[in-house]
Amino acid sequence: MSKRITEKSEKTFAEAQKFIPGGVNSPVRAFGAVGGTPLFIKSGTGCYLNDIDGNAYVDYIGSWGPLILGHADPRIVKRIHAAVSNGTSYGAPTEQEVRLAQLIKEAMPSLEKIRMVNSGTEATMSAIRLARGFTKRDAVIKFDGCYHGHVDSLLIQAGSGATTLGTPTSPGVPQDFVKHTISLPYNDIDAVNDVCLKRGKEIACIIVEAVAGNMGVVLPQKNYLEGLREITKKYGIVLIFDEVMTGFRVAHGGVQSLYHITPDLTTLGKIIGGGLPVGAYGGKREIMDTISPMGAVYQAGTLSGNPVAMTAGIATLEILKDTTIYKGLEEKSHRLAVGMEKVCKDAKIPAYHTRIGSMLCTFFTDQPVTDYTTAKKCNTERYAKFFHGMLEKGFYFAPSQFEAIFVSTCHGEKEIDATIDAFKEVVKSF
Ligand SMILES: *Cc1c(COP(=O)(O)O)cnc(C)c1O
Repeated sequence: MSKRITEKSEKTFAEAQKFIPGGVNSPVRAFGAVGGTPLFIKSGTGCYLNDIDGNAYVDYIGSWGPLILGHADPRIVKRIHAAVSNGTSYGAPTEQEVRLAQLIKEAMPSLEKIRMVNSGTEATMSAIRLARGFTKRDAVIKFDGCYHGHVDSLLIQAGSGATTLGTPTSPGVPQDFVKHTISLPYNDIDAVNDVCLKRGKEIACIIVEAVAGNMGVVLPQKNYLEGLREITKKYGIVLIFDEVMTGFRVAHGGVQSLYHITPDLTTLGKIIGGGLPVGAYGGKREIMDTISPMGAVYQAGTLSGNPVAMTAGIATLEILKDTTIYKGLEEKSHRLAVGMEKVCKDAKIPAYHTRIGSMLCTFFTDQPVTDYTTAKKCNTERYAKFFHGMLEKGFYFAPSQFEAIFVSTCHGEKEIDATIDAFKEVVKSF
């Protein structure tokens, strides 16, 4: 096989760096963690991405989660076209907003009321403001390795202990902005209990990725989510499930439906926008009714609920009502996960595999990954080899160990088996 040509991507990347910081509009796209030049994409169809040099790849990123139905699903494209010709935004209410809210509520009944925004970041930022306004408390608990978008007060890593102040992970976030944020290890219910014993009545909310997908895929251990629900109830703390990634992904009703837990608030994004920018937050009626104009907690958006994005979301969620889709995704994702696991085992490559529905991860490590500390022990050099080896063979995985592999309805057995075969070749270079 001749080596791929990526000349146009390289040229465009050089050009991009002149005008765009790092040449990209979201940092992970720059391939910083694995080295090399990012690919510039021309088009996507089904489970394939085509770069500007004419190479095709089986795509396991799916725009970082939204594209559960693959690229350019004709049923969605058609409806977006029709919506655009009626005007792209009115700054006034539409029937489409009501329809999308209904579709979300049907799948996730805990969202008694829903507010649309334009991104996952906006959703979590607004949900936290709401929780603080509702409880009249300031402190927030989050978990190490959970990502909730680039909200100032959530860009924090744990201090040396739960009682010490965390430090901002980004310059530009004043220490004062994170002084109310407490970051604790994921999957450690005792740590939450300890903090709440001392400060339970000061805490406005606990925000958690109920299944963590931004340090690789890390599953909640037995009784962890139940424990969070119990503690938050006891202290009157608002429990926020950040299901921006997992909503309509791990199951039609998200993580909360799989674990039978009712959070107070839920944040959504990614899939509910059908590939266009949409976020949402929703939950208990009494909490949601404290948002303006019903209540005093302010939140607004010029393009929030615009008819084009709503239509893409409606088209997607209407298709996903057919729950046999999730059965199909389960089977394919299982096939991929088992295949990758076997390749590692046969080649004696230490690896830890996680999967929930169509979200999975192969961690190159010899120990179980249960939190951020264990995730960070992975062999990221090996991951870079995996990434580049697979890319060379036409399989596009995330350019970082700490991301999920996403399977879409368009991935067929043919692509999955080819992926496993390619992986068999790639491990030879490890
Ligand atoms: C992607 C993601 C976000 C941020 O969403 P954006 O649309 O990128 O702002 C927040 N929370 C989780 C769990 C996510 O996966």
